[in-house]
Amino acid sequence: MRLPSSFLGSIAALFVLAGGGAIRAQQTIETLRVQHNVYAIFGAGGNVTVQIGDEGVLMVDSGLAASAPALLAEIRQLSPRPIRFLINTHLHPDHVGGNVAFSQAPAEPRPDFAPLAGAAGAADPLQPLNIIAHERVLSRMTAALPPLTAGQTGGAERLRGMPIDEYFMPTKDMHFNGEAVVLYHEPNAHTDGDTVVLFRGSDVVSAGDLFTPDAYPFIDIANGGTIQGEIAALNHVLQLTVPGHTQEGGTYVIPGHGRICDEADVVEFRDMIVIVRDRVQDMIKKKMTLDQIKAARPTRDYDPQYVTASSFVKADQFVEAVYRGLNDKK
Ligand SMILES: [Zn+2]
Repeated sequence: MRLPSSFLGSIAALFVLAGGGAIRAQQTIETLRVQHNVYAIFGAGGNVTVQIGDEGVLMVDSGLAASAPALLAEIRQLSPRPIRFLINTHLHPDHVGGNVAFSQAPAEPRPDFAPLAGAAGAADPLQPLNIIAHERVLSRMTAALPPLTAGQTGGAERLRGMPIDEYFMPTKDMHFNGEAVVLYHEPNAHTDGDTVVLFRGSDVVSAGDLFTPDAYPFIDIANGGTIQGEIAALNHVLQLTVPGHTQEGGTYVIPGHGRICDEADVVEFRDMIVIVRDRVQDMIKKKMTLDQIKAARPTRDYDPQYVTASSFVKADQFVEAVYRGLNDKK
């Protein structure tokens, strides 16, 4: 395994040990056209968004490492053109696991690439794929790299699969395949490096794991996630979406896991989180301990909708994340 993979593998193992229903490498891969030239691919780990056109392919997230060959084959059914951009919504291995494989996918020569002096004939090591993520994703991924071993010189090989085009401003925009593609950093939501991607022409939002319509949100506190940021991010997604005239359709939202949604689905999910947040806040005001709050089951009425036997986030874990977020705020 290459170095980035070992980092990803260790987190993947953690997820599996935690009973991670979010990771299902053996699922059947399925593609749905969402709207205009944007597609959603399910079953490769986290949902993968693909935008295609004359200039090539843009992906949002790369699924699990083990699913990369099947995912590439699925994308090739959509377009034979080079995969130019891969945006990572965040650092979890079911969303960046395919990065290494995709960065090694057969490439077209890039006309603007010139090897460094002394490296005549060297292939462009990271061509053609431009991996984009918020800088917090890159810093956390590189911090997790094992130290260099004897004989390793670092460089491109070591960083293969890492985001090479990180951004640190609140937004980043680009134009690709005839439409504006806008990236928004959503601070401290699911993690501290979450990106939401708006395909402005196709009217599709790719939200990553801060939106999971059939499961409680995983607020990854160890990686900078907070309940406050989660709610703020969902409110921002709602600003980006416009419902159709019958309230169905309009802007479509591709969640990190689960079905294609529209604004009404995001509203329902946001409202559930706000209601649970308010209940936990009330219990904290009553000086209840975390154990007492868990025992009071503030998510009780929502559990049938958001928890199944294979759910990655159980009710207690969600309640604890909310509690910790509210207490850390003081
Ligand atoms: Zn995630």
